[in-house]
Amino acid sequence: MMTVRPLLVAASRAEGSDHWRLRHGRSCTAAVCADRQLEMERRRRAEQRGDAAPVPTDDEALLDDVAAGMVAGTIDWYDVADRFGRSLGWVRDSWEPLLMTRWVVLEEQRAPSGRHGTVHGYVKDGCRGPGCAAAMKDDSRRRRRAVAYGRPALVPVGPIGEHLDDLAAAGVGMPTVSRQAGVALSTVQSIRSRSRPMVQATTADRLLGVSASMAATVDSSDTRAVIAELLLRGWTKAGIARQVVSPGATVLHIGVRPRTSRANHDAVAALLDRPWPGTPSLPAPMWPDDRVVSSESAKALLLLLAEAGVNPRRAAARIGVDADALVAMGERTTLGVIGRLRRLAAAPHQPIVRPRAA
Ligand SMILES: [Zn+2]
Ligand SMILES: [Zn+2]
Repeated sequence: MMTVRPLLVAASRAEGSDHWRLRHGRSCTAAVCADRQLEMERRRRAEQRGDAAPVPTDDEALLDDVAAGMVAGTIDWYDVADRFGRSLGWVRDSWEPLLMTRWVVLEEQRAPSGRHGTVHGYVKDGCRGPGCAAAMKDDSRRRRRAVAYGRPALVPVGPIGEHLDDLAAAGVGMPTVSRQAGVALSTVQSIRSRSRPMVQATTADRLLGVSASMAATVDSSDTRAVIAELLLRGWTKAGIARQVVSPGATVLHIGVRPRTSRANHDAVAALLDRPWPGTPSLPAPMWPDDRVVSSESAKALLLLLAEAGVNPRRAAARIGVDADALVAMGERTTLGVIGRLRRLAAAPHQPIVRPRAA
C-alpha cells in the first residue's frame, strides 16, 4: 500500500520546502514528492470508480473553520484534499461554491470595501483573498461569452498565469499549451512569466480552455512512479509489458522517453487497481488476506531445502505451486509461499498434506 509519509510532508513544510505540493519541481528526486504524486493518482482513480470517501457538505462549523483558515492563509486546498483523502480538483470544485460567501464576509471584515468577491476587488483593490481570486477566475471564463458577442477586452495576466502554473504543475508543458490553445509559444511564455500586465481576452479564454486532462502526454516521471509502485507490489517489468503492450511483449518501453502518452500512462495506472499482480513468479493468493512480501526469507528456506536435497522445482511440486514461483522468484513472493515452504523445510522428506486451494 502506498503512503504519503505524512511526517515527511510535515517536515518538508516546516523547513519551507514545497515537496508536499503536487510535483513541485520537475527535477525533484525526493521520495516524498514521488509518493505524493502517486497518492494523488490513487485518489483520482478512486473518485473515477466512485468509491472515494465521502466529503461532508453540511458541516457548517467545519466550513467556517476552513474558510477562515484560507482567508488567513494558514489552510489551502492541499490541506482540505489531505483531510478527506480526495484529489485537489475534486475538493476545489465541490467546496468552492460552499466557501465563497464565507470568504467574502471574512475579507470584508479584514478590509471593508464592499467589493470583495468581485473582479473589482481583485483588480482595483488588489485583494488576493480566496473570494476575490475565485471571482477573477470565474470572470475570465465568463468573458469567453462576452467575446463571442464581439466585445474584445483586455484582462489582467495574473489568473491566466496561475492557470499556466497549474498546468505546468500537472505536467503539461508550455509547448503543449501553445499547441492546444493555438496561441504562440512566445505569448504563452510572456504570460507565464508575467512580463506583461494585460492579455487579450480571446487569448486568455483559449488558454483557460486548456485543461490538464486534455494533454495527450504526461511527464514520464509520473509513469515511472506508478511503475515503481507496481514493482514493489510484485509485478515484473515484463509482466507489465504483457498486460499493457501485448501478450508476447518481454521488454517494457513505457516511461523511457521524457513524455508518455496518456493512454499508456492510464493503462499502466489501471494495474494499480488489480488486487494481484499478473506475473508467473507469484502464485494466486492462497487465502483471502495473502499478500506480496519480500522474498528474502523464502530464499533462505530454499537454501535450507537445497541442503536437504530438495531442489526448487521439486519443492514447488511438493507445496503445490507453479515451478516458476520458486525457480523465477524475484524480490517478492507471497506470504502463502513462505508459509508452505516453512512447513516443508521443517520436514523435507515427509509426505505433506497439500493445503486446500484458496
Ligand atoms: Zn520535491
Ligand atoms: Zn477580497
